Amino acid sequence: MVHKSGVAGELDYFTELCRRHNLKITPQRVAIYRILMGCSDHPSADYVFRIIRNDFPNISFETVNRSLLTFAEIGLIAIVESTSGVRRFDPDMVSHHHIHCIKCGRIFDFQHVDYDCIAVPDSLTERFSVVGKRVVFHVVCPDCIKKGAKVEPLSETHTSVET
Ligand SMILES: [Zn+2]
Ligand SMILES: [Zn+2]
Repeated sequence: MVHKSGVAGELDYFTELCRRHNLKITPQRVAIYRILMGCSDHPSADYVFRIIRNDFPNISFETVNRSLLTFAEIGLIAIVESTSGVRRFDPDMVSHHHIHCIKCGRIFDFQHVDYDCIAVPDSLTERFSVVGKRVVFHVVCPDCIKKGAKVEPLSETHTSVET
């Protein structure tokens, strides 16, 4: 993740966006956002719930999940659907690409200017209103290889472009 403005700047952005959407800034919401900003692997609601309970033992999973979905609705974060079907959350709204581990499901960010400039084929724009694009590499991450995960040979299905 690339965060040019530092933690203080990120919270300013959070505060500004919440205000603009009349979303109350509660200590729980700030904590949820902070957890997201501290993760580089696009955590699930479940993960955020497990971490936030250290500080807010009475918070419910529903509250955490609803807050994350609300954050996504106001454009503060993005939802990333992983192939395992678990919804993951991405606090980085600047153009970037993803490395998705097919074993553990974690998703890492990477920057590549050439990929930012990929042209959208006419066959797509004729049929769809393209609102974004992202290159996704499907990999087995070093941690999973260390744990003995088998690596399948590279095929064309291991790279995809999300639009
Ligand atoms: Zn992995
Ligand atoms: Zn990302």
